Amino acid sequence: MNDYDSDLALGLLKKQGYEQTEDESQADVILFNTCSVRQHAEDRVFNQISYLKKEKERRPELMIGVMGCMVENYKTQFFDDFPHIDLLIGTRSIRELPQAIERARNEKQKVIELSKSGFGYDLYETPRREGKFHAYLPIMTGCDKVCSFCIVPYVRGPEISRPSKEILETVKYLADQGVKHITLLGQNVNSYGRSLRAKRPPKDGSVQHRLAESNLGSEIVSASLGMLPRNDDNFSDLLANVAQVNGIEKVSFTTSHPQDAHEALFQAIRQEPKISRRFHLPLQAGSDRILALMRRDHTLAEFRTKIDRMRQLVPDISVTTDIIVGFPGETDEEFEMTRRALEEIEFDGAFIFRYSPRPHTGAARLEDTTPEDLKTKRVSALLEMQRRITQRNNQSLLGTTCQVMVTEISKKSKEEVLARNWQEKKVVFPGTANDIGRICYVKLNELVDETFRGVRPRPDPTFREI
Ligand code: SAH
Repeated sequence: MNDYDSDLALGLLKKQGYEQTEDESQADVILFNTCSVRQHAEDRVFNQISYLKKEKERRPELMIGVMGCMVENYKTQFFDDFPHIDLLIGTRSIRELPQAIERARNEKQKVIELSKSGFGYDLYETPRREGKFHAYLPIMTGCDKVCSFCIVPYVRGPEISRPSKEILETVKYLADQGVKHITLLGQNVNSYGRSLRAKRPPKDGSVQHRLAESNLGSEIVSASLGMLPRNDDNFSDLLANVAQVNGIEKVSFTTSHPQDAHEALFQAIRQEPKISRRFHLPLQAGSDRILALMRRDHTLAEFRTKIDRMRQLVPDISVTTDIIVGFPGETDEEFEMTRRALEEIEFDGAFIFRYSPRPHTGAARLEDTTPEDLKTKRVSALLEMQRRITQRNNQSLLGTTCQVMVTEISKKSKEEVLARNWQEKKVVFPGTANDIGRICYVKLNELVDETFRGVRPRPDPTFREI
């Protein structure tokens, strides 16, 4: 999501005639796109901004700006703490960036753009591209969940979905431009469409209206009567429809929330080979008490039931997760439950985060009694165990042949290319620049860290080059 925003900002500035430079001393504008999910990320931005104070004194015409979640978190406090900052752009105001720079420069005043609603960008505006065959596409923005540790709903606002018709038009447009791989983005893609459905209240006096009046909520009413307003204003249908667009060969999505990941999604993945076989489903913790304190609205058993069902329906699915270690009050036994959950579920990969108290969140009010060195030990223990599980899972794939999409020339050798298979695992094999964007089949022969080395079996009856 943040990568997408950075690219969007870059695209808007390029339209104004700006060029990108790696050399700070050459830059007329320096922009920080920021993340507030953990304190560590914020601290790094604060350090880098402080470091630019001297450069601004030397070159007062240099424009320094901050965009993204930290702007929503700190607002004008940034100007108080760092007087050398010229502009602040909130998460839903990226579109205003070029004008904001001009205003800050011409009127020699500080500019802050904070919008309370909307997307902050149009559908057709510079969707992110990697090469010319991969694009990221936000299908929704914000988040209506209330996870007690998470600042995202505060800095990104309420959940708003884009109408599926518009999304599909954009996908067609991108496919016409040569895009083959689309990654659908959202804080919680599984609840895609909820805001659209909520906007269409049932008519007065109808059965649906009476059911809605009886407090069942529009979702249950819609689902029980099979009357979703547009049948693709829900995630599983959207996925299937995006995959059907002519020219689209692969569809990925991120991120999912266990509470909204249901059978319909699993079935959609099962039925459509173009959909990526990587499923990232954050567990966060293995203890039901901690999960309840986190307000995740599921138990470990419920989470496992979903994973089991997904694996049953899509045997080649690669499931990854996020874990937070050291949530306030996490006991040794509760940590052990997380450790055991990782051991038993055998994810293909896991991001292990140390809990970071965030302002505006419920958990920030809880007393954090876990000593820091104990948290460090817990993080290391999980990282080490997960590394072994990932390696074991990867080793079991050696000798098999899989479909991959080539993304780039290998950094280590010009005669090799780097590709990702449908489980999003990295594969290196002999190839040339002509292969970039191609789909081919590769036999996995060797494993170096988490990257496979392979060869293209020839002749291959199933070979399909695109
Ligand atoms: N909804 C998005 C963004 C969540 S942030 C998504 O799911 O991708 C990604 C991960 O960061 C979360 O799953 C969680 O594991 C971690 N995280 C969020 N807030 C945190 C906090 N206060 N401390 C530590 N980790 C956190």
